[in-house]
Amino acid sequence: MGDRWARVQQFKIQPSRRPTASTLLHCAGVTLYNHVFLVLPASVAQWAWRPPIDLPDQNQNQKYFIAKCGGGIKVRVRVGVPGLVDKANCSREEAGLVAGGFGPDGPQPPARGRNLKEFVTRVGRISHNLACTPQGPRGKQAPFLMELTAGVIGNLLLFDFQYFIWHLLHHRIRWLYVTFHAIHHNFTSPFALTTQCLGGWELITVGFWTTLNPVILRCHLLTTWAFMVVHVYVSIEDHCGYDFPWSTSRLIPFGIYGGPSKHDVHHQKPNTNFAPHFCHWDKIFGTYADVSFSSSIK
Ligand SMILES: [Zn+2]
Ligand SMILES: [Zn+2]
Repeated sequence: MGDRWARVQQFKIQPSRRPTASTLLHCAGVTLYNHVFLVLPASVAQWAWRPPIDLPDQNQNQKYFIAKCGGGIKVRVRVGVPGLVDKANCSREEAGLVAGGFGPDGPQPPARGRNLKEFVTRVGRISHNLACTPQGPRGKQAPFLMELTAGVIGNLLLFDFQYFIWHLLHHRIRWLYVTFHAIHHNFTSPFALTTQCLGGWELITVGFWTTLNPVILRCHLLTTWAFMVVHVYVSIEDHCGYDFPWSTSRLIPFGIYGGPSKHDVHHQKPNTNFAPHFCHWDKIFGTYADVSFSSSIK
């Protein structure tokens, strides 16, 4: 499309470079392989680890949640498991006390589980409660827009630091580069499909941090989902090969954000621009390369 549309073509970072049919097919094949043999099993494992939960309704479940998370300080102290404030850990009378009106007529507590399935469910609940913020009556309500925005930015910043270190090491240590990262550098002019053209170790590492970081930062589930969507978007944008006026790096002022032109430079000049999103780590470590490098070789 970029070839035929002059209006699109003008934003191409390396106008003279085009992916060939074979490179497109190669990237599509690697992406398909990664999704079938890594992403799908990881998704199933994550589903088992953090099973889906019912959304609360306005009445009954809200009371149930208050018993679990909101007024759970007494229960938490009693059972000594941070984050787990579950009716299964207390008697109905205790749950009623904590819920403030939650009593024999309300929803019944689940039976104590002894088998593997209930154990897995319990671990999932602990994980969910750890990821559920803020603790309190609002715990299961949607976060405020400011909370959601701050959570997404916080996750991007944390991932940016983690991947910067990983990326730096995988370029500075030859064995790591050749064994794990070189496959991503088969392309000096990236295109969208290059995003997922990764080795298994890199994909697992990236997926691990993307999944774990919202739990570490105790993000609300909605914030987690928003982060995942934004993360996928900016990762593809980094590799799309075009620097559009609406690129994230142009929308965020003061050169804080790198965006597609900065990562494109990394594919041309691999010892620069290791951070995936922001610029500060590369500037601090002296590995930042300006887009002017890219412009000078057109
Ligand atoms: Zn890349
Ligand atoms: Zn690299």
